[in-house]
Amino acid sequence: MNIARVVVDVPSMSTDQVFDYRIPDSYLSVVEKGMRVIVPFGPRKVMGFVVDITAESSFHRLREIEDVMDFTPILTEELLSLGKWLADTTLSFYLSALQVMLPQVLKAKYKKEIWKLTEDHHLSETIQTLFAGRDVINFQEVEDRNIPYTQIQKEVKKGLIEVRYAVKSKETKKKVLWVKPMKDPHLLQEYADELSKNAAKQKQIIEYFLENNSPIPLTQLRNKLGITRSPIDTLQKKQLVSVFEQEMYRDPYEHRAFKQSYPLPLTEQQRQAMEPIEKALISEQHDVFLLHGVTGSGKTEVYLQSIQKVLAKGQEAIVLVPEIALTPQMVERFKSRFGSKVAVLHSALSAGEKYDEWRKIQRNEVSVVVGARSAIFAPFKNLGIIIIDEEHETSYKQEDHPRYHARDVAIFRGEKHRCPVVLGSATPTLETFARARKGVYQLLTLSKRMNDQSMPAVEIIDMREELHNGNRSMFSQALQQKIVERMNRNEQMVLFLNRRGYSTFVICRDCGETIQCPHCDISLTYHKRQNRLKCHYCAYEQPMPNACPKCESPSIRYFGTGTQKVEEELNKTFPEAKVIRMDVDTTSRKGSHERLLKKFGQGEADILLGTQMIAKGLDFENVTLVGVLAADSMLHLPDFRASEKTFQLLTQVSGRAGRHHLPGEVMVQTYTPEHYSVILASQYDFEGFYQKEMHIRKTFQYPPYYFLTLVHVSHENHVFVVDVIQRITKVLSTELQRETKILGPTPSPLSRIKNRYRYQCMVKYRNEPNIHVIMKKILQMYEEDIQKNELQITIDFQPYQMM
Ligand code: ADP
Ligand code: ZN
Ligand code: ZN
Repeated sequence: MNIARVVVDVPSMSTDQVFDYRIPDSYLSVVEKGMRVIVPFGPRKVMGFVVDITAESSFHRLREIEDVMDFTPILTEELLSLGKWLADTTLSFYLSALQVMLPQVLKAKYKKEIWKLTEDHHLSETIQTLFAGRDVINFQEVEDRNIPYTQIQKEVKKGLIEVRYAVKSKETKKKVLWVKPMKDPHLLQEYADELSKNAAKQKQIIEYFLENNSPIPLTQLRNKLGITRSPIDTLQKKQLVSVFEQEMYRDPYEHRAFKQSYPLPLTEQQRQAMEPIEKALISEQHDVFLLHGVTGSGKTEVYLQSIQKVLAKGQEAIVLVPEIALTPQMVERFKSRFGSKVAVLHSALSAGEKYDEWRKIQRNEVSVVVGARSAIFAPFKNLGIIIIDEEHETSYKQEDHPRYHARDVAIFRGEKHRCPVVLGSATPTLETFARARKGVYQLLTLSKRMNDQSMPAVEIIDMREELHNGNRSMFSQALQQKIVERMNRNEQMVLFLNRRGYSTFVICRDCGETIQCPHCDISLTYHKRQNRLKCHYCAYEQPMPNACPKCESPSIRYFGTGTQKVEEELNKTFPEAKVIRMDVDTTSRKGSHERLLKKFGQGEADILLGTQMIAKGLDFENVTLVGVLAADSMLHLPDFRASEKTFQLLTQVSGRAGRHHLPGEVMVQTYTPEHYSVILASQYDFEGFYQKEMHIRKTFQYPPYYFLTLVHVSHENHVFVVDVIQRITKVLSTELQRETKILGPTPSPLSRIKNRYRYQCMVKYRNEPNIHVIMKKILQMYEEDIQKNELQITIDFQPYQMM
């Protein structure tokens, strides 16, 4: 077994295969599957993943592995096979599929170090000499001294030393200063009694340690007592306390104490939902569950108690939460229940922090991970459950190579580990709900809210009426009145505006008419330069009308307001109201999201104004009014899921009001109050919406009745890109089956970005067993242009973004 099969770090179609290398004798017992190695490749040396080890190769003269990067596998066998599957199903390189599972730090060229995790005398002599009393050494020294890797590996496996990637970054701190008491309490007490009055700070510190006889991070102590470093130093000089350094994980939640929470006695409906999950856990059966429950129906408690069962069996759990719902409030619920067993992974963490959380998982120091999309790749070896909360969230789909959906990965891993996958949502996707209906997934329902609170009443406000009554502002009379009421009562409000900018549809402000494609049931997109309306699915187009085709009003124009403009108008209309605005502009800095929410939670503002990011997971006692300023801005996106997204969003936003004892109210402003998503959302009628929307999907041939694949092409040369997309469309129409529909080619909704022209075509099909092969052929046709980085072709088998 001296041949390693290696996936090399050369991302190109011709190198997207496994290469054989001989393992030199010195590395024979070192190299394992899932490790990274350095191999010669042409004239270069490149990194590669060992994906298999065999005894034979069909090639004769093999080159040798030059170096070993890891001493323990960084990918398990399961993850290696997951990578292969990902590459095949998303048409991405095997290499990219493996890399997407790893923290950034392991992808870049970071300095490698060896850390000592034990006392010297536990180590072998060679290693002791290597460290020469130090705790950390540069890996280079191993090479310089020619120490056999097997010796390093032996100690690594025993957990005595560790190979780590050093991360240089301002925000990372690997070492933390701690303070601990050095004397018995009675001696401390004596000293404190003798202190003079102007040494109040020293006294405070001593008193702290009298109450808490344990070490505390220095900064935490300073914050707690509001003191500077100097009184601590003074006490250190007197040998009453000691300041010491300790290597520490960069735990982003380290400053927060979490109060232990305990399982609540389940309600009858929770118990009924939990039972089948528990059964699957006990029988180690891979089942997919859809936990369909309105907000506040106790889904999270079901997750927590299911995880508890998993931990009791000595297994691990992954919980996915959408990035924007990964709020401190959400994290707190898991941390309070499972304490330090929980790792948290989200994109706001620095590279170093992510690496630390990942290492905790890899070293089995935690057994629960709560995180955004990529946490689905957590390298657990003994998974007992995978939970995806808010399963309808589109952020679970990665919009870059490899274009995977976390739900699919979850199900793949669930099968391998023979463990249940639980999808939770108040507004599941049509795809998921249809599968649950057919019995492919098991449907579990929580129909009642805890304490039988009813959902807040929703009032739909017809903005056309407002216009007819002479109100041209973006706040209806009714909403203005409610805002004033709340101000007088000192209650808080959330005002919601869909994603800023990007408004491409036209709407008649008199009658609410929007112009749809006659073939695709999506809104036409307004192109300013040509003054025309175009469909981005099928290329239908027409001139922009001067008057509304329905009511002949000239008030037909394209639609859109940004949050900034709303804020200005709010300030004008309600000068005494304090407003916090949350959108991509105000929350781009790390931690600002959390800070703004905290301010709002502490009552420092009356109104929270924001985009989708405020729609989820927020839970503020004092919020009694939620206003949706323009339901239309989502309803008419050029996307066949526009109605579904509107329904989901309105439902979710409504759930933000009246979560506690104060009753809540929701006001939805719209120019199309008769639209079924608006009406059914206001009645919290998911079932009704599902029926209606399924019917439309069937009529216009969309998922879940049909599959979609989007082919997207971009290039700087307009003529060339048009030629490419036309040829692709032609190839597709000859290769695909006759019943399959090819829409386009057409310019993308965003037809030019950064000087690149963008075109696309969409394939709709029911059954196309060779679609992957055919699409791969298309990529191969243009391999050269793609390789030169001039032409981009993306193939998306499960498109969510149609831009
Ligand atoms: P969801 O996740 O469906 O929005 P939660 O799990 O957050 O619902 O539950 C809503 C509220 O009800 C929370 O405050 C939670 O602590 C509480 N709760 C959940 N289950 C129970 C229970 N069995 N007994 C008492 N309170 C519960
Ligand atoms: Zn009109
Ligand atoms: Zn169309």
